[in-house]
Amino acid sequence: MLERRILILVAALVVLLASAALWNAFVRRPARASASATPDTASVESVVRTAGPAVDSAPDTARAAAQPAPAPAPTVVPPVGAGGPSYIVLLARSEIRRRIRASAGSTYLSDIVAGSTDSILHRWDGRVSTPVRVFFPPTTVANFQPSFLDAVRSAFQRWQEAGVPVRFNLDADSSSAEVRVQWRIQFEGERSGQTDLQWDEDGHLTGGVVTLATFDAKGQPFAPDDVRVLALHEIGHLLGLDHSPDAGDIMYAQPKVRDLSPRDIRTASLLYDLAPGPLRVGS
Ligand SMILES: [Zn+2]
Repeated sequence: MLERRILILVAALVVLLASAALWNAFVRRPARASASATPDTASVESVVRTAGPAVDSAPDTARAAAQPAPAPAPTVVPPVGAGGPSYIVLLARSEIRRRIRASAGSTYLSDIVAGSTDSILHRWDGRVSTPVRVFFPPTTVANFQPSFLDAVRSAFQRWQEAGVPVRFNLDADSSSAEVRVQWRIQFEGERSGQTDLQWDEDGHLTGGVVTLATFDAKGQPFAPDDVRVLALHEIGHLLGLDHSPDAGDIMYAQPKVRDLSPRDIRTASLLYDLAPGPLRVGS
């Protein structure tokens, strides 16, 4: 009697185990396969993979390992390591480089980028509602005239009226100022002005010092209108521009013209249309 009960129990157990095995083999496995075959929908990577530039040619190894053998990708994107720029950032930089290239001729921003050592766009950000605070320290430099200050103020005004989206508060005090405009008698060589800039890691300008000479390289005293031209050039630097290769622009290294050219204005306008920061793929 007891043996028969044990037999029935063992038989029931065998049936149960067999059923479980069958369930695993024919019911659960196909379900699991269909789940893993479901493609990831609209991931960021796949968007960039389609739109990404052909130059970004390193294989996406991290993604290949995580997915079950996908069809060969038509284009591939660079690996994005810990701390590297995201795909969206790389795509944005690629678009900025394209716009700069497309503007060659009508602006000199491509010359500026080609000539720069760091390929970083620097500019002020959001400074229409909160103007950049500029301080003019008192000076006793030889040949300094109060009318020089009016000349510099009119140069700031000229850039503002040109449509660049930066405003300047020219009445800031020394403690709150972000920019100082100072004077010296002469520079060495042909130079008559200098602008030193500071910026943060995103390429946003945070401060600057503009230094203007009161005598030219030959020792001749500058007149107020010469100072206005010098200031136009240095304020171009203060806005984030570098030199133009064309003598028709105020940003030519040794200015020959006495006002902003249409190309100066277009170049500054384009700079302020683009996000500041690095333009290289890997930085
Ligand atoms: Zn210059």
